[in-house]
Amino acid sequence: MGETATPCPFCGAQDTDKRSDFGTSLMVSLHYCRRCRSYFEAIKWSERAEKLDLPAFLDQPRR
Ligand SMILES: [Zn+2]
Repeated sequence: MGETATPCPFCGAQDTDKRSDFGTSLMVSLHYCRRCRSYFEAIKWSERAEKLDLPAFLDQPRR
């Protein structure tokens, strides 16, 4: 209801279904595409997520 569908990254269809609010991490939600029948994850950029300091986290030197 008023929720915009997340387009499928594989075929671009908007005929998708949100299956879960959480995928493999808290940052993503799990969706299902009815056209190509595949599951995909979409990153959620909520207000809370934007406050996370991701660039600094990713810039940490690898050991
Ligand atoms: Zn698809």
